[in-house]
Amino acid sequence: MSDVLSPPTRVPTVGFVSLGCPKALTDSELILTQLSAEGYQTSKTFQGADLVIVNTCGFIDDAIKESLDTIGEALAENGRVIVTGCLGAKTADNGDNMVRQMHPKVLAVTGPHATQEVMDAVHVNLPKPHDPFVDLVPNSFGVAGIKLTPRHYAYLKISEGCNHRCTFCIIPSMRGDLVSRPIGDVLTEARALFAGGVKELLVISQDTSAYGVDVKYRTGFWDGKPVKTRMLELVQTLGEIAEPYGAWVRLHYVYPYPSVDDILPLMASGQVLPYLDVPLQHSHPDVLRRMKRPASGEKNLERLLKWREACPEIVIRSTFIAGFPGETEEEFEHLLDFIREADIDRAGCFAYSAVNGATANALPGMLPVELREERRARFMAVAEAVSIAKLQRRVGSTMQILVDSAPGMGKKGGLGRSYADAPEIDGVVRLLPPEKISKTLKVGEFTKARIVAAQGHDLVAMPI
Ligand code: SF4
Repeated sequence: MSDVLSPPTRVPTVGFVSLGCPKALTDSELILTQLSAEGYQTSKTFQGADLVIVNTCGFIDDAIKESLDTIGEALAENGRVIVTGCLGAKTADNGDNMVRQMHPKVLAVTGPHATQEVMDAVHVNLPKPHDPFVDLVPNSFGVAGIKLTPRHYAYLKISEGCNHRCTFCIIPSMRGDLVSRPIGDVLTEARALFAGGVKELLVISQDTSAYGVDVKYRTGFWDGKPVKTRMLELVQTLGEIAEPYGAWVRLHYVYPYPSVDDILPLMASGQVLPYLDVPLQHSHPDVLRRMKRPASGEKNLERLLKWREACPEIVIRSTFIAGFPGETEEEFEHLLDFIREADIDRAGCFAYSAVNGATANALPGMLPVELREERRARFMAVAEAVSIAKLQRRVGSTMQILVDSAPGMGKKGGLGRSYADAPEIDGVVRLLPPEKISKTLKVGEFTKARIVAAQGHDLVAMPI
């Protein structure tokens, strides 16, 4: 037996690019966690990597182009590329896989939510490291794995797929029907994230209100106690877990079903943030029916006003589509009235654009692109006026702000967000240099601040 140690083997390195929505980001986090656990090194660059994984988005034409361009770049600069994500599940007009058709040299292609298939492709093309010195690479979130968001906030995905078939959407054909994660796993991940320093947990899925429908709200276990796989119990327990950490829980993609009424008391009592991201897409019942939207039979305006009564602090964010096929001027004006009456705090709007493979493409009454764009612009003018008026009302109040950026300990001010602002999609709070010389700001910590002005979608505040 030799007593000479063999020289340390080079650690295989995987370049990783993550494109797309928060759901794609959580897929990336799972793959990166697995790579890291198996001893692979990961890098954000193509050069020097042994192969590159590109997690793609296939939702709208711009996203498809960006994904295809990135794959092309990775092939040109590195040459060995594995593709995953929504675009990987897409077929071209002739029925072939779109990625393979455009980039036949890729090593492997998988759809979204396919950690194991991606890892299988990695193992085939870049064998697992056997260096005993490279073992489980520790990460700060334990069972929650690697996170691509800043350390102080994280997305928590509670389910995959969707049981609806909205006519403008192809997500169910890419991600399949709803599959809820076991409630015990979700809550364990949440606790690990809080313990690792996360101060804001963003609950995501395709339809958060449908959590547990697929398993008939089965009773699971967490911390030795039975808990139903259902939104109310999930939100309640997340609020309880977050409390000792003083952390925020924010809910995204909640549809206006009657069952959501039960969550409002939890918001009013401060257990979870009084913030709901409700993707409404339209207000007119006929358009909603043509869209085949979930909860399209519900009286959305009444429901939203009832929520505001139950929790006056509630902030409602939503997204809409202007110029959907067949949309009449009267239907569009119904939407504008709705924005004013429902007092939507934050609204985004897309001009309708046909998505390859969506059934809405076959609906009669396709509107000219210019009209769709014009309606989008009219929508945004109304929505911005509503939103800005609501922000103005905050001037003079004191809010709790989570600090996102604070160069030099905040001596020159910084950036943060209040409960009314989700990261990346809403506005920010611009923090002025604190008046008190002893006051410092730290990223990932809360500060109280007095709102001194509203600027467009943002607020300006003095830390106190
Ligand atoms: S609810 Fe509709 S828009 Fe959302 S993922 Fe499901 S089918 Fe698509």
